[in-house]
Amino acid sequence: MILKVARLGHPVLRRKARRVSPRQVGSPGVQALIRDMVETMREYDGVGIAAPQVHLALQIAAIGVDHNPRYPKARRIPLTLLINPRVRPASRRQVKDWEGCLSVEGLRGRVPRWHSVEVEAYNAQGKPVRFRASGFFARVIQHEWDHLQGKVFLDRMTDLSTLTHLTEYARYWAKG
Ligand SMILES: [Zn+2]
Repeated sequence: MILKVARLGHPVLRRKARRVSPRQVGSPGVQALIRDMVETMREYDGVGIAAPQVHLALQIAAIGVDHNPRYPKARRIPLTLLINPRVRPASRRQVKDWEGCLSVEGLRGRVPRWHSVEVEAYNAQGKPVRFRASGFFARVIQHEWDHLQGKVFLDRMTDLSTLTHLTEYARYWAKG
């Protein structure tokens, strides 16, 4: 089922999301929510989605890139579910690149993010996982993790002059 996406201004996007008990992850309710979040993310060509974006303040995020018209240059990322994630920088290097958000429709901006991160979370089966990610995958993880803390990418921008409507982004800023 495709869910309604919360847009900037809805208080749910500014709340810190609640942790999900790992034992509850296998329950029909949480499994249905995960399926619906993934379906919603794909419907709107997102590369990630967090539960607060579908009006539920729970620490669940889905990430995945296949062929995506919103990010045509993005490398493939296998579908990854992050439940109660903890994210730490794995290097001191920060990189600025473009981000958009299904809750901040029609805008892109350049956001500094850690180049690589160390992630601890529970997966879609409620099993603990730990991995390192870098590049665009690390960027999407940090973006979704922010949603679980009540933050959006605009809060992380250090130079608001790069904020751009999608049409102007495509015309002036999209590479190649
Ligand atoms: Zn977002």
